[in-house]
Amino acid sequence: MDIRYHSSRNNDVSFSASEAILKGLADDGGLFVPDKIPALEKSPEELKTLDYKGVAYEVMKLFLTDFTEEELKGCIERAYDSKFDTEAIAPLVNAGGAYYLELFHGPTIAFKDMALSILPHLMGVSAKKNGLKEEIVILTATSGDTGKAALAGFADVPGTRIAVFYPKGGVSVVQEKQMVTQRGKNVKVIGIKGNFDDAQTGVKKMFGDEASKARLKEAGFVFSSANSINIGRLVPQVVYYVYAYTRLLAEEKIKAGDKINICVPTGNFGNILAAYYAKLMGLPVGKLICASNTNKVLYDFFKTGVYDRLHTLDEESGEFKGERKFTLTSSPSMDILISSNLERLIYRICGGDDKEDKKLMEALSGEGRYEISGEARERLSDFYGAYADEARCADKIKSMYEEHSYVIDPHTAVAAAVYDAYRSETGDETPAVIASTASPYKFLRSVITAIEPELDEKDDLKLIDRLKNISGVEIPPAIQDILTAPVLHDNVCEISGMEGEVLDFLGIK
Ligand SMILES: *Cc1c(COP(=O)(O)O)cnc(C)c1O
Repeated sequence: MDIRYHSSRNNDVSFSASEAILKGLADDGGLFVPDKIPALEKSPEELKTLDYKGVAYEVMKLFLTDFTEEELKGCIERAYDSKFDTEAIAPLVNAGGAYYLELFHGPTIAFKDMALSILPHLMGVSAKKNGLKEEIVILTATSGDTGKAALAGFADVPGTRIAVFYPKGGVSVVQEKQMVTQRGKNVKVIGIKGNFDDAQTGVKKMFGDEASKARLKEAGFVFSSANSINIGRLVPQVVYYVYAYTRLLAEEKIKAGDKINICVPTGNFGNILAAYYAKLMGLPVGKLICASNTNKVLYDFFKTGVYDRLHTLDEESGEFKGERKFTLTSSPSMDILISSNLERLIYRICGGDDKEDKKLMEALSGEGRYEISGEARERLSDFYGAYADEARCADKIKSMYEEHSYVIDPHTAVAAAVYDAYRSETGDETPAVIASTASPYKFLRSVITAIEPELDEKDDLKLIDRLKNISGVEIPPAIQDILTAPVLHDNVCEISGMEGEVLDFLGIK
């Protein structure tokens, strides 16, 4: 069965998977959506004997139907190799009444590696298949983790260049150090004087600007995106939810056909959307629990059907009245007010109505708000949205450590705290998988402050040893690296200067 991709804002355009991967975003600003979600061909019972790569092939081939078996298997082989520090690739850890799906065993110790270690290979194959002559320029806005994972994935990949924009002062010390020490002849890292949404908006603007695209083409370049809007990111993320289910089956924690709940710490809505796609493929999934931090725009949306990036929900009156402030938290990868991938869910719950989707997205960029219909809201029943503030997140890190000797990072802790609340509110005891999205080593200070608030250590990097003592987990190579690697990037620019930086990087005057 051939799957084609069209824009969430226009059902009439149609692209193959490889074309959609190269383009990243549709020309009209919409996101590529498959014309149908393929059903799993093999049952979880049949898949449970396969390893991660085997499951990856069985899932991805259903979406990327213009890739040959050899092409796709080649990409999978090159992605999920010894860059990961465990053969399981994504191990499940049972702690405190839930299964933590550890998605941080790749080169940059956060879950973005799961998709970004394969995306460059998918792009390389796609470029060849489509006879692309231009060099691919990856433009990425990052709230911290995507940037490094994309840099690591694309560094020195022939036929590509990559420029990464991050909010200066809006990412953790370790995250910043990881990025500014990135080696590679084709990489550029730039801090911007703004937040993540500014960076993302700036990148989207460059993608949408016909004049600058034409200029680039003339100089032999074409833009693409490694952000989580690319289907080449989304599809590999579906894999690990199917994989997690098959591991629970193999370990006899569940029986064939049993449902699981999935709880995901959410920012741009990519990871949880992948879990939703897994459910739509036929994986037995009950609730999809969408966990937010203090930037709770998604919680407000699930509660009311209104997405409002300017005003926050007042629970007592049920009205949106206070100003919605962008808050920096200890889980920076979830500090997002515009969750791009939500558009794919909106499209689906609008019954695939591209005009309606377009109208809502225009309202969001115009008035800063949209409201979905009652019918669309009913289709949201698969989801449960909740949020945990900074105090609950820190409490969870501490109690998880004290009661279960398991150290989790602040993103995972937000999900764990939300899951506790879900369970006590609903009494739902369905086995649950919680996406564990970063190694605690990546967010050292927040983790140690939560566990040992009395410790007074100014040097973030000294905390590495402290965490090792507390957790008993070896220091990952990614962390050892940044202790010694030289800083290679120190550019900082205004929001308005982003395009100039890119032209400069490409040597275009
Ligand atoms: C990116 C990220 C998230 C959020 O994932 P989305 O797909 O953007 O919802 C959560 N945790 C960590 C550690 C991340 O890097």
